Amino acid sequence: MVTISGKSVFGGVSIGKLMFYKRSEKVIKRTHVDNVDEEWSRFQKAKDTAVNQLKGLYEKALEDVGEANAMIFEIHQMMLEDLDYLESIENIIRTQEVNAEFAVATTADNFSQMFAAMDDAYMQGRAADVKDVSERVLDILCGVSNGIKEMEEPCIIAADDLAPSETVQLDKSKVLGFATMYGSSNSHTAILARTMNIPAVIGLGDTLSEKYDGSLAVIDGFTGTLYIDPDEETLSEMKKKREKDLEQKALLEQLKGKENVTKSGQKINVYANIGNVSDLGAVLKNDAGGIGLFRSEFLYLENTDFPTEEQQFAVYKQVAESMAGKKVIIRTLDIGADKQVDYFGLDKEENPALGYRAIRICLTRPEIFKTQLRALYRAAVYGNISIMFPMIISVDEIHQIKAIIAEVKAGLKEEGIPYRDEVELGVMIETPASVMISRELAKEVDFFSVGTNDLTQYTLAIDRQNSKLDRFYDPHHPAILSMIKMAAESAHAEGAWIGICGELGADLELTEEFLKMGLDELSVSPAMVLPLRKRIRECE
Ligand code: PEP
Ligand code: MG
Repeated sequence: MVTISGKSVFGGVSIGKLMFYKRSEKVIKRTHVDNVDEEWSRFQKAKDTAVNQLKGLYEKALEDVGEANAMIFEIHQMMLEDLDYLESIENIIRTQEVNAEFAVATTADNFSQMFAAMDDAYMQGRAADVKDVSERVLDILCGVSNGIKEMEEPCIIAADDLAPSETVQLDKSKVLGFATMYGSSNSHTAILARTMNIPAVIGLGDTLSEKYDGSLAVIDGFTGTLYIDPDEETLSEMKKKREKDLEQKALLEQLKGKENVTKSGQKINVYANIGNVSDLGAVLKNDAGGIGLFRSEFLYLENTDFPTEEQQFAVYKQVAESMAGKKVIIRTLDIGADKQVDYFGLDKEENPALGYRAIRICLTRPEIFKTQLRALYRAAVYGNISIMFPMIISVDEIHQIKAIIAEVKAGLKEEGIPYRDEVELGVMIETPASVMISRELAKEVDFFSVGTNDLTQYTLAIDRQNSKLDRFYDPHHPAILSMIKMAAESAHAEGAWIGICGELGADLELTEEFLKMGLDELSVSPAMVLPLRKRIRECE
Protein backbone atom coordinates (compact mmCIF):
# COMPACT_ATOMS: atom_id res chain seq x y z
CA MET A 1 0.00 0.00 0.00
CA VAL A 2 1.22 3.50 -0.82
CA THR A 3 -0.10 6.39 1.28
CA ILE A 4 0.22 9.93 -0.05
CA SER A 5 -0.85 13.06 1.79
CA GLY A 6 -2.13 16.10 0.00
CA LYS A 7 -4.69 18.82 0.49
CA SER A 8 -8.36 18.10 0.65
CA VAL A 9 -10.63 19.98 -1.71
CA PHE A 10 -13.89 18.22 -1.05
CA GLY A 11 -14.89 15.76 1.67
CA GLY A 12 -16.17 12.28 1.03
CA VAL A 13 -14.55 8.94 0.32
CA SER A 14 -14.22 7.32 -3.06
CA ILE A 15 -12.89 3.94 -3.99
CA GLY A 16 -12.00 2.89 -7.52
CA LYS A 17 -9.34 2.43 -10.15
CA LEU A 18 -6.85 5.21 -10.78
CA MET A 19 -6.93 6.48 -14.33
CA PHE A 20 -4.32 8.97 -15.52
CA TYR A 21 -5.57 11.87 -17.57
CA LYS A 22 -3.99 11.79 -20.99
CA ARG A 23 -3.48 14.78 -23.18
CA SER A 24 -3.50 14.12 -26.86
CA GLU A 25 -0.53 15.49 -28.67
CA LYS A 26 -1.27 14.89 -32.26
CA VAL A 27 0.74 16.54 -34.94
CA ILE A 28 -1.01 16.30 -38.27
CA LYS A 29 1.55 15.78 -41.02
CA ARG A 30 0.93 15.55 -44.72
CA THR A 31 2.22 12.21 -45.97
CA HIS A 32 2.04 10.56 -49.36
CA VAL A 33 -0.02 7.35 -49.65
CA ASP A 34 0.23 4.82 -52.48
CA ASN A 35 -3.09 3.11 -51.99
CA VAL A 36 -5.79 5.77 -51.92
CA ASP A 37 -8.63 3.23 -51.74
CA GLU A 38 -7.19 1.80 -48.57
CA GLU A 39 -6.74 5.28 -47.10
CA TRP A 40 -10.33 6.22 -47.91
CA SER A 41 -11.64 3.11 -46.22
CA ARG A 42 -9.38 3.78 -43.20
CA PHE A 43 -11.12 7.16 -42.94
CA GLN A 44 -14.58 5.57 -43.30
CA LYS A 45 -13.88 3.16 -40.45
CA ALA A 46 -12.73 6.01 -38.20
CA LYS A 47 -15.81 8.00 -39.13
CA ASP A 48 -18.11 5.07 -38.26
CA THR A 49 -16.41 4.73 -34.88
CA ALA A 50 -16.91 8.46 -34.29
CA VAL A 51 -20.61 8.19 -35.19
CA ASN A 52 -20.99 5.34 -32.71
CA GLN A 53 -19.27 7.35 -29.99
CA LEU A 54 -21.64 10.24 -30.70
CA LYS A 55 -24.66 7.96 -30.47
CA GLY A 56 -23.49 6.90 -27.01
CA LEU A 57 -22.93 10.52 -25.99
CA TYR A 58 -26.40 11.45 -27.23
CA GLU A 59 -28.02 8.74 -25.09
CA LYS A 60 -26.05 9.84 -22.05
CA ALA A 61 -26.79 13.53 -22.56
CA LEU A 62 -30.47 12.75 -23.05
CA GLU A 63 -30.55 11.33 -19.54
CA ASP A 64 -28.31 13.96 -17.93
CA VAL A 65 -29.33 17.22 -19.55
CA GLY A 66 -32.48 16.61 -21.59
CA GLU A 67 -33.30 16.50 -25.27
CA ALA A 68 -32.61 20.12 -26.13
CA ASN A 69 -28.98 19.86 -25.02
CA ALA A 70 -28.46 16.33 -26.28
CA MET A 71 -29.41 17.49 -29.78
CA ILE A 72 -25.90 18.73 -30.41
CA PHE A 73 -24.63 15.15 -30.56
CA GLU A 74 -27.24 14.32 -33.18
CA ILE A 75 -26.17 17.35 -35.18
CA HIS A 76 -22.57 16.16 -34.91
CA GLN A 77 -23.55 12.75 -36.26
CA MET A 78 -25.31 14.40 -39.19
CA MET A 79 -22.27 16.54 -39.91
CA LEU A 80 -20.11 13.43 -40.17
CA GLU A 81 -22.53 12.01 -42.72
CA ASP A 82 -22.76 15.24 -44.68
CA LEU A 83 -22.06 14.59 -48.36
CA ASP A 84 -20.12 17.80 -49.01
CA TYR A 85 -17.89 17.10 -46.04
CA LEU A 86 -17.25 13.50 -47.11
CA GLU A 87 -16.68 14.45 -50.74
CA SER A 88 -14.11 17.03 -49.74
CA ILE A 89 -12.16 14.47 -47.69
CA GLU A 90 -12.34 11.81 -50.40
CA ASN A 91 -11.29 14.29 -53.04
CA ILE A 92 -8.23 15.42 -51.08
CA ILE A 93 -7.15 11.84 -50.38
CA ARG A 94 -7.58 10.75 -54.01
CA THR A 95 -6.34 13.76 -55.94
CA GLN A 96 -3.46 14.67 -53.67
CA GLU A 97 -2.64 11.07 -52.69
CA VAL A 98 -2.35 12.04 -49.06
CA ASN A 99 -3.16 10.55 -45.67
CA ALA A 100 -6.66 10.69 -44.18
CA GLU A 101 -5.48 12.80 -41.20
CA PHE A 102 -4.31 15.56 -43.50
CA ALA A 103 -7.52 15.41 -45.58
CA VAL A 104 -9.72 15.63 -42.46
CA ALA A 105 -7.73 18.49 -40.92
CA THR A 106 -7.77 20.47 -44.18
CA THR A 107 -11.49 19.92 -44.71
CA ALA A 108 -12.19 20.93 -41.11
CA ASP A 109 -10.27 24.19 -41.57
CA ASN A 110 -11.96 24.97 -44.89
CA PHE A 111 -15.46 24.22 -43.67
CA SER A 112 -15.13 26.05 -40.39
CA GLN A 113 -13.83 29.15 -42.17
CA MET A 114 -16.72 28.93 -44.60
CA PHE A 115 -19.30 28.64 -41.79
CA ALA A 116 -17.69 31.42 -39.78
CA ALA A 117 -17.98 33.78 -42.74
CA MET A 118 -21.74 33.26 -43.15
CA ASP A 119 -24.22 35.93 -42.09
CA ASP A 120 -26.57 33.55 -40.33
CA ALA A 121 -25.72 33.22 -36.60
CA TYR A 122 -26.83 29.58 -36.59
CA MET A 123 -24.47 28.68 -39.43
CA GLN A 124 -21.64 30.59 -37.75
CA GLY A 125 -22.15 28.36 -34.74
CA ARG A 126 -21.51 25.32 -36.93
CA ALA A 127 -17.90 26.44 -37.45
CA ALA A 128 -16.96 25.18 -34.00
CA ASP A 129 -19.00 22.00 -34.50
CA VAL A 130 -17.27 20.98 -37.68
CA LYS A 131 -13.91 21.40 -35.94
CA ASP A 132 -15.12 19.44 -32.96
CA VAL A 133 -16.37 16.43 -34.96
CA SER A 134 -13.23 16.46 -37.08
CA GLU A 135 -11.08 16.42 -33.93
CA ARG A 136 -12.96 13.34 -32.83
CA VAL A 137 -12.19 11.57 -36.12
CA LEU A 138 -8.56 12.72 -35.94
CA ASP A 139 -8.21 11.32 -32.42
CA ILE A 140 -9.42 7.97 -33.72
CA LEU A 141 -7.18 8.06 -36.80
CA CYS A 142 -4.13 9.00 -34.73
CA GLY A 143 -5.02 6.49 -32.02
CA VAL A 144 -4.86 9.08 -29.26
CA SER A 145 -7.45 9.29 -26.59
CA ASN A 146 -7.79 12.67 -24.99
CA GLY A 147 -8.65 12.85 -21.34
CA ILE A 148 -10.79 9.95 -20.26
CA LYS A 149 -13.26 9.92 -23.14
CA GLU A 150 -12.96 6.19 -23.60
CA MET A 151 -13.21 5.24 -19.93
CA GLU A 152 -15.49 2.27 -19.47
CA GLU A 153 -16.05 2.21 -15.74
CA PRO A 154 -16.16 5.04 -13.19
CA CYS A 155 -12.62 5.87 -12.04
CA ILE A 156 -10.56 8.19 -9.88
CA ILE A 157 -8.91 10.66 -12.23
CA ALA A 158 -5.22 11.23 -11.58
CA ALA A 159 -3.24 14.01 -13.24
CA ASP A 160 -0.36 16.39 -12.72
CA ASP A 161 -2.94 19.16 -12.65
CA LEU A 162 -6.15 19.82 -14.53
CA ALA A 163 -7.11 23.04 -16.30
CA PRO A 164 -10.69 24.22 -15.79
CA SER A 165 -11.37 23.57 -19.50
CA GLU A 166 -10.20 19.97 -19.11
CA THR A 167 -12.26 19.41 -16.00
CA VAL A 168 -15.50 20.66 -17.53
CA GLN A 169 -15.15 18.24 -20.40
CA LEU A 170 -14.89 15.15 -18.22
CA ASP A 171 -17.77 12.73 -18.29
CA LYS A 172 -18.94 13.44 -14.77
CA SER A 173 -20.87 10.20 -14.40
CA LYS A 174 -17.58 8.36 -14.67
CA VAL A 175 -15.53 10.44 -12.26
CA LEU A 176 -15.35 9.03 -8.73
CA GLY A 177 -12.75 11.49 -7.55
CA PHE A 178 -9.79 13.67 -8.46
CA ALA A 179 -6.20 13.17 -7.32
CA THR A 180 -3.63 15.61 -8.62
CA MET A 181 0.08 16.14 -8.03
CA TYR A 182 -0.14 19.92 -8.00
CA GLY A 183 -2.89 22.55 -7.85
CA SER A 184 -4.19 24.98 -5.30
CA SER A 185 -7.34 24.63 -3.22
CA ASN A 186 -8.62 27.97 -4.49
CA SER A 187 -8.24 27.16 -8.17
CA HIS A 188 -11.21 26.81 -10.45
CA THR A 189 -10.56 23.10 -10.82
CA ALA A 190 -10.93 22.71 -7.06
CA ILE A 191 -14.13 24.77 -7.21
CA LEU A 192 -15.45 22.52 -9.97
CA ALA A 193 -14.74 19.40 -7.90
CA ARG A 194 -16.83 20.92 -5.11
CA THR A 195 -19.63 21.84 -7.51
CA MET A 196 -19.58 18.35 -8.94
CA ASN A 197 -19.72 16.97 -5.39
CA ILE A 198 -16.69 14.81 -6.00
CA PRO A 199 -14.11 13.85 -3.36
CA ALA A 200 -10.78 15.37 -4.35
CA VAL A 201 -7.22 15.64 -3.10
CA ILE A 202 -4.59 17.84 -4.66
CA GLY A 203 -0.94 18.65 -4.08
CA LEU A 204 0.02 14.97 -3.77
CA GLY A 205 3.43 15.59 -5.32
CA ASP A 206 5.59 13.35 -7.48
CA THR A 207 4.87 10.17 -5.53
CA LEU A 208 1.66 9.99 -7.52
CA SER A 209 3.19 8.61 -10.69
CA GLU A 210 1.80 7.08 -13.87
CA LYS A 211 3.08 3.68 -12.83
CA TYR A 212 -0.05 3.44 -10.66
CA ASP A 213 -2.36 3.79 -13.67
CA GLY A 214 -5.08 1.16 -13.25
CA SER A 215 -4.33 0.41 -9.56
CA LEU A 216 -7.08 0.34 -6.97
CA ALA A 217 -7.09 3.53 -4.93
CA VAL A 218 -9.02 5.26 -2.18
CA ILE A 219 -9.44 8.99 -1.75
CA ASP A 220 -10.15 10.13 1.77
CA GLY A 221 -11.33 13.62 0.98
CA PHE A 222 -11.69 14.42 4.69
CA THR A 223 -8.02 14.02 5.54
CA GLY A 224 -6.61 14.74 2.08
CA THR A 225 -5.09 11.26 1.75
CA LEU A 226 -4.73 8.99 -1.26
CA TYR A 227 -4.17 5.26 -0.68
CA ILE A 228 -2.93 3.21 -3.61
CA ASP A 229 -3.33 -0.58 -3.49
CA PRO A 230 -4.89 -0.29 0.00
CA ASP A 231 -4.46 -3.21 2.38
CA GLU A 232 -7.51 -5.08 3.64
CA GLU A 233 -7.67 -3.13 6.88
CA THR A 234 -7.53 0.31 5.24
CA LEU A 235 -10.02 -0.70 2.59
CA SER A 236 -12.58 -1.89 5.10
CA GLU A 237 -11.99 1.17 7.31
CA MET A 238 -12.54 3.43 4.30
CA LYS A 239 -15.67 1.54 3.26
CA LYS A 240 -17.05 2.16 6.74
CA LYS A 241 -16.12 5.83 6.54
CA ARG A 242 -17.90 6.12 3.22
CA GLU A 243 -21.03 4.48 4.63
CA LYS A 244 -21.01 6.91 7.55
CA ASP A 245 -20.63 9.86 5.22
CA LEU A 246 -23.55 8.68 3.11
CA GLU A 247 -25.65 8.29 6.26
CA GLN A 248 -24.83 11.87 7.29
CA LYS A 249 -25.83 13.06 3.85
CA ALA A 250 -29.10 11.15 4.15
CA LEU A 251 -29.74 12.93 7.47
CA LEU A 252 -29.25 16.27 5.77
CA GLU A 253 -31.93 15.25 3.28
CA GLN A 254 -34.43 15.84 6.05
CA LEU A 255 -33.65 19.54 5.87
CA LYS A 256 -35.03 19.76 2.36
CA GLY A 257 -38.00 22.07 2.08
CA LYS A 258 -37.09 23.74 5.41
CA GLU A 259 -36.37 27.45 5.74
CA ASN A 260 -32.93 29.00 6.14
CA VAL A 261 -33.83 30.66 9.42
CA THR A 262 -31.98 31.16 12.70
CA LYS A 263 -33.49 30.34 16.09
CA SER A 264 -34.36 34.00 16.54
CA GLY A 265 -36.09 34.17 13.17
CA GLN A 266 -33.45 35.86 10.98
CA LYS A 267 -33.70 34.61 7.43
CA ILE A 268 -31.07 34.42 4.72
CA ASN A 269 -31.21 33.11 1.16
CA VAL A 270 -29.05 30.12 0.35
CA TYR A 271 -28.33 29.78 -3.35
CA ALA A 272 -25.99 27.57 -5.36
CA ASN A 273 -23.04 28.21 -7.66
CA ILE A 274 -22.92 26.47 -11.03
CA GLY A 275 -20.67 26.43 -14.07
CA ASN A 276 -22.81 24.48 -16.42
CA VAL A 277 -26.38 23.32 -17.13
CA SER A 278 -25.37 19.85 -16.08
CA ASP A 279 -25.02 21.18 -12.50
CA LEU A 280 -28.73 22.05 -12.45
CA GLY A 281 -29.68 18.57 -11.24
CA ALA A 282 -27.48 19.05 -8.16
CA VAL A 283 -29.01 22.49 -7.52
CA LEU A 284 -32.53 21.10 -7.51
CA LYS A 285 -31.56 17.93 -5.62
CA ASN A 286 -29.98 19.98 -2.84
CA ASP A 287 -32.95 22.33 -2.63
CA ALA A 288 -31.10 25.59 -3.30
CA GLY A 289 -33.33 28.65 -3.30
CA GLY A 290 -31.80 29.95 -6.53
CA ILE A 291 -28.56 30.25 -8.41
CA GLY A 292 -26.27 32.86 -6.91
CA LEU A 293 -23.49 32.51 -9.45
CA PHE A 294 -23.59 30.96 -12.89
CA ARG A 295 -19.98 31.16 -14.10
CA SER A 296 -20.94 31.72 -17.73
CA GLU A 297 -17.33 31.59 -18.90
CA PHE A 298 -17.49 27.80 -18.76
CA LEU A 299 -19.72 27.98 -21.82
CA TYR A 300 -16.79 29.60 -23.58
CA LEU A 301 -14.29 27.14 -22.13
CA GLU A 302 -16.27 24.17 -23.41
CA ASN A 303 -16.36 25.53 -26.94
CA THR A 304 -13.74 25.60 -29.63
CA ASP A 305 -15.02 28.95 -30.85
CA PHE A 306 -17.10 31.85 -29.51
CA PRO A 307 -20.51 30.49 -28.48
CA THR A 308 -23.10 32.18 -30.65
CA GLU A 309 -26.01 34.24 -29.37
CA GLU A 310 -28.37 31.32 -30.12
CA GLN A 311 -26.22 28.81 -28.27
CA GLN A 312 -26.01 31.09 -25.24
CA PHE A 313 -29.69 31.98 -25.38
CA ALA A 314 -30.61 28.26 -25.33
CA VAL A 315 -28.46 27.64 -22.25
CA TYR A 316 -29.62 30.69 -20.26
CA LYS A 317 -33.23 29.97 -21.17
CA GLN A 318 -32.90 26.38 -20.03
CA VAL A 319 -31.41 27.46 -16.69
CA ALA A 320 -34.10 30.12 -16.18
CA GLU A 321 -36.90 27.70 -17.07
CA SER A 322 -35.52 24.87 -14.93
CA MET A 323 -35.33 27.17 -11.92
CA ALA A 324 -39.00 28.01 -12.46
CA GLY A 325 -39.09 31.59 -11.29
CA LYS A 326 -36.34 31.26 -8.66
CA LYS A 327 -33.53 33.77 -8.93
CA VAL A 328 -30.76 32.93 -11.42
CA ILE A 329 -27.74 35.24 -11.25
CA ILE A 330 -25.67 34.92 -14.38
CA ARG A 331 -22.22 36.42 -14.27
CA THR A 332 -20.97 37.76 -17.56
CA LEU A 333 -17.84 36.32 -19.09
CA ASP A 334 -14.93 36.16 -16.63
CA ILE A 335 -12.25 34.80 -18.94
CA GLY A 336 -8.53 35.37 -18.44
CA ALA A 337 -6.02 34.48 -15.70
CA ASP A 338 -6.36 30.72 -15.15
CA LYS A 339 -9.38 30.48 -17.44
CA GLN A 340 -7.71 30.57 -20.85
CA VAL A 341 -9.42 30.00 -24.17
CA ASP A 342 -7.27 29.69 -27.30
CA TYR A 343 -9.71 31.28 -29.70
CA PHE A 344 -9.72 34.57 -27.73
CA GLY A 345 -6.13 34.98 -28.89
CA LEU A 346 -5.06 36.55 -25.60
CA ASP A 347 -1.41 37.53 -25.29
CA LYS A 348 0.79 35.92 -22.68
CA GLU A 349 1.04 38.29 -19.72
CA GLU A 350 3.50 38.77 -16.90
CA ASN A 351 0.71 38.97 -14.32
CA PRO A 352 -2.42 37.44 -15.82
CA ALA A 353 -4.44 37.67 -12.59
CA LEU A 354 -3.85 41.42 -12.67
CA GLY A 355 -4.19 41.51 -16.40
CA TYR A 356 -6.53 41.64 -19.31
CA ARG A 357 -9.49 39.68 -18.01
CA ALA A 358 -13.21 39.64 -17.23
CA ILE A 359 -14.99 42.98 -17.65
CA ARG A 360 -11.81 44.48 -19.12
CA ILE A 361 -12.11 42.15 -22.11
CA CYS A 362 -15.85 42.81 -22.39
CA LEU A 363 -15.43 46.58 -22.43
CA THR A 364 -12.61 46.54 -24.97
CA ARG A 365 -14.17 43.90 -27.21
CA PRO A 366 -17.82 44.97 -27.01
CA GLU A 367 -18.88 42.69 -29.88
CA ILE A 368 -18.26 39.66 -27.60
CA PHE A 369 -20.02 41.38 -24.68
CA LYS A 370 -23.02 42.43 -26.77
CA THR A 371 -23.62 38.89 -28.02
CA GLN A 372 -23.75 37.68 -24.44
CA LEU A 373 -25.97 40.55 -23.27
CA ARG A 374 -28.41 39.99 -26.15
CA ALA A 375 -28.69 36.32 -25.20
CA LEU A 376 -29.18 37.25 -21.53
CA TYR A 377 -31.87 39.89 -22.10
CA ARG A 378 -33.71 37.51 -24.44
CA ALA A 379 -33.51 34.58 -22.01
CA ALA A 380 -34.70 36.81 -19.14
CA VAL A 381 -38.21 36.58 -20.64
CA TYR A 382 -38.28 32.93 -19.50
CA GLY A 383 -37.51 33.30 -15.82
CA ASN A 384 -36.01 35.35 -13.04
CA ILE A 385 -32.57 36.24 -14.42
CA SER A 386 -30.23 38.79 -12.83
CA ILE A 387 -26.97 39.84 -14.44
CA MET A 388 -23.74 40.36 -12.55
CA PHE A 389 -20.42 41.83 -13.69
CA PRO A 390 -16.99 40.56 -12.54
CA MET A 391 -13.81 42.40 -11.53
CA ILE A 392 -15.36 45.84 -11.24
CA ILE A 393 -13.06 48.62 -10.02
CA SER A 394 -14.87 51.83 -10.93
CA VAL A 395 -18.24 53.56 -11.28
CA ASP A 396 -17.26 54.53 -14.79
CA GLU A 397 -17.20 50.86 -15.79
CA ILE A 398 -20.84 50.62 -14.69
CA HIS A 399 -21.70 53.64 -16.83
CA GLN A 400 -20.00 52.02 -19.82
CA ILE A 401 -21.82 48.73 -19.18
CA LYS A 402 -25.15 50.54 -18.95
CA ALA A 403 -24.53 52.35 -22.22
CA ILE A 404 -23.81 49.04 -23.95
CA ILE A 405 -26.94 47.50 -22.40
CA ALA A 406 -29.01 50.41 -23.73
CA GLU A 407 -27.61 49.79 -27.22
CA VAL A 408 -28.31 46.07 -26.97
CA LYS A 409 -31.90 46.66 -25.87
CA ALA A 410 -32.48 49.22 -28.60
CA GLY A 411 -31.18 46.73 -31.18
CA LEU A 412 -33.47 43.95 -29.94
CA LYS A 413 -36.42 46.33 -29.93
CA GLU A 414 -35.77 47.45 -33.48
CA GLU A 415 -35.48 43.85 -34.66
CA GLY A 416 -38.75 42.97 -32.90
CA ILE A 417 -37.03 40.27 -30.82
CA PRO A 418 -38.67 39.66 -27.41
CA TYR A 419 -36.54 40.63 -24.38
CA ARG A 420 -37.08 41.73 -20.80
CA ASP A 421 -36.60 45.42 -20.26
CA GLU A 422 -36.02 45.44 -16.49
CA VAL A 423 -33.35 43.02 -15.39
CA GLU A 424 -31.75 43.22 -11.95
CA LEU A 425 -28.08 44.23 -12.25
CA GLY A 426 -25.29 43.57 -9.78
CA VAL A 427 -21.55 43.73 -9.41
CA MET A 428 -19.06 41.38 -7.91
CA ILE A 429 -17.14 42.80 -5.01
CA GLU A 430 -13.82 41.11 -5.56
CA THR A 431 -11.30 43.93 -5.75
CA PRO A 432 -10.30 46.15 -2.81
CA ALA A 433 -11.18 49.13 -5.02
CA SER A 434 -14.78 48.00 -5.30
CA VAL A 435 -15.00 47.77 -1.51
CA MET A 436 -13.59 51.26 -1.03
CA ILE A 437 -16.11 52.76 -3.49
CA SER A 438 -18.93 50.41 -2.53
CA ARG A 439 -21.20 53.25 -1.44
CA GLU A 440 -20.95 54.83 -4.91
CA LEU A 441 -21.33 51.48 -6.66
CA ALA A 442 -24.42 50.65 -4.58
CA LYS A 443 -26.15 53.71 -5.97
CA GLU A 444 -25.77 52.27 -9.45
CA VAL A 445 -26.81 48.65 -9.02
CA ASP A 446 -29.41 46.42 -7.38
CA PHE A 447 -27.06 44.05 -5.61
CA PHE A 448 -23.51 43.07 -4.67
CA SER A 449 -22.04 39.61 -4.58
CA VAL A 450 -18.73 39.27 -2.79
CA GLY A 451 -16.20 37.14 -4.65
CA THR A 452 -14.07 36.21 -1.68
CA ASN A 453 -11.71 34.06 -3.77
CA ASP A 454 -10.39 37.02 -5.71
CA LEU A 455 -10.98 39.53 -2.93
CA THR A 456 -8.62 37.48 -0.76
CA GLN A 457 -6.03 37.19 -3.52
CA TYR A 458 -6.05 40.92 -4.31
CA THR A 459 -6.24 42.11 -0.71
CA LEU A 460 -3.55 39.85 0.69
CA ALA A 461 -1.45 40.03 -2.50
CA ILE A 462 -1.45 36.24 -2.69
CA ASP A 463 -1.88 34.41 -5.98
CA ARG A 464 -4.79 32.02 -5.44
CA GLN A 465 -3.27 29.63 -8.00
CA ASN A 466 0.06 29.28 -6.25
CA SER A 467 -0.11 26.17 -4.11
CA LYS A 468 3.05 27.17 -2.22
CA LEU A 469 1.10 30.05 -0.78
CA ASP A 470 -1.90 28.08 0.43
CA ARG A 471 -0.76 28.44 4.05
CA PHE A 472 -0.72 32.23 3.70
CA TYR A 473 -4.00 32.46 1.79
CA ASP A 474 -6.25 33.29 4.71
CA PRO A 475 -9.80 34.31 3.85
CA HIS A 476 -10.47 34.67 7.60
CA HIS A 477 -7.99 37.55 7.67
CA PRO A 478 -9.56 40.52 9.53
CA ALA A 479 -8.99 42.67 6.45
CA ILE A 480 -11.30 40.44 4.41
CA LEU A 481 -14.00 40.28 7.06
CA SER A 482 -13.92 44.08 7.51
CA MET A 483 -14.24 44.52 3.78
CA ILE A 484 -17.30 42.28 3.59
CA LYS A 485 -18.83 44.23 6.48
CA MET A 486 -18.08 47.54 4.82
CA ALA A 487 -19.59 46.41 1.51
CA ALA A 488 -22.70 45.18 3.37
CA GLU A 489 -23.15 48.53 5.11
CA SER A 490 -22.76 50.40 1.82
CA ALA A 491 -25.21 48.14 0.02
CA HIS A 492 -27.87 48.46 2.69
CA ALA A 493 -27.40 52.23 3.03
CA GLU A 494 -28.28 52.57 -0.66
CA GLY A 495 -31.13 50.05 -0.73
CA ALA A 496 -29.19 47.28 -2.47
CA TRP A 497 -28.88 43.70 -1.26
CA ILE A 498 -25.65 41.76 -0.76
CA GLY A 499 -24.52 38.16 -0.84
CA ILE A 500 -21.32 36.13 -0.99
CA CYS A 501 -20.61 33.81 -3.90
CA GLY A 502 -16.93 33.08 -3.19
CA GLU A 503 -15.94 29.89 -1.40
CA LEU A 504 -15.97 31.65 1.97
CA GLY A 505 -19.77 31.72 1.88
CA ALA A 506 -19.70 27.99 2.62
CA ASP A 507 -17.36 28.34 5.59
CA LEU A 508 -19.56 27.19 8.45
CA GLU A 509 -17.24 28.76 11.04
CA LEU A 510 -18.24 32.17 9.70
CA THR A 511 -21.97 31.66 9.14
CA GLU A 512 -22.87 33.33 12.41
CA GLU A 513 -20.65 36.31 11.63
CA PHE A 514 -22.19 36.71 8.17
CA LEU A 515 -25.65 36.66 9.71
CA LYS A 516 -24.56 39.37 12.15
CA MET A 517 -23.32 41.47 9.25
CA GLY A 518 -26.82 41.20 7.85
CA LEU A 519 -25.89 39.52 4.58
CA ASP A 520 -28.95 38.70 2.51
CA GLU A 521 -27.64 35.71 0.64
CA LEU A 522 -24.92 33.05 0.60
CA SER A 523 -24.25 31.16 -2.60
CA VAL A 524 -22.32 27.93 -2.25
CA SER A 525 -21.58 24.75 -4.16
CA PRO A 526 -24.77 22.66 -4.41
CA ALA A 527 -23.50 20.02 -1.98
CA MET A 528 -23.00 22.70 0.69
CA VAL A 529 -26.57 24.04 0.59
CA LEU A 530 -27.98 21.61 3.17
CA PRO A 531 -24.97 21.67 5.56
CA LEU A 532 -25.22 25.48 5.47
CA ARG A 533 -28.96 25.36 6.12
CA LYS A 534 -28.27 23.10 9.11
CA ARG A 535 -25.69 25.58 10.45
CA ILE A 536 -28.03 28.57 9.98
CA ARG A 537 -30.81 26.81 11.84
CA GLU A 538 -28.43 26.16 14.75
CA CYS A 539 -27.47 29.85 15.05
CA GLU A 540 -29.11 32.10 17.60
C1 PEP B 1 -14.56 34.89 -6.53
O1 PEP B 1 -13.58 35.47 -6.99
O2 PEP B 1 -14.75 34.74 -5.32
C2 PEP B 1 -15.58 34.33 -7.44
C3 PEP B 1 -16.72 33.88 -6.98
O3 PEP B 1 -15.27 34.25 -8.77
P1 PEP B 1 -14.25 33.19 -9.37
O4 PEP B 1 -13.91 32.21 -8.29
O5 PEP B 1 -14.92 32.55 -10.52
O6 PEP B 1 -13.11 34.04 -9.77
MG1 MG C 1 -13.51 36.01 -9.10
